[in-house]
Amino acid sequence: MSDSVQETKIIFCNVCKVSTNHVFRARYARPHFNFDGGYVSENYEARAFIWSCAGCDEATFESQLLELNQGEEEWGDYFPARQQEGLRQRKFFQNLKPDLNQLYEDVVACLNNDRLLLFTIGLRALEF
Ligand SMILES: [Zn+2]
Repeated sequence: MSDSVQETKIIFCNVCKVSTNHVFRARYARPHFNFDGGYVSENYEARAFIWSCAGCDEATFESQLLELNQGEEEWGDYFPARQQEGLRQRKFFQNLKPDLNQLYEDVVACLNNDRLLLFTIGLRALEF
């Protein structure tokens, strides 16, 4: 029997629809590359994690950007986006053609990710 302790983190699970323990599966870190300036920043580090829900085993990807000189202040994001309150769920239409179904799915994703210009364009396209 192993003495190792499993690393866990409480994250909202899109499948279970509640915050659950997520089990650590993998980690990757590298210096942050500044695409605008074209240089590698020594003050920032980009980290990525893979977690799996302890309830349903659904995988979640987490990306973080850490400012190393400021007490490891971090900004993080999850993929797919957490579907907590405020996010729209897509509805299912039986007779929707595949291309319109894909457009509808993309429109809902744009709305949930604050891509309002793309959301508006997609919504207009759905009306025709
Ligand atoms: Zn779950």
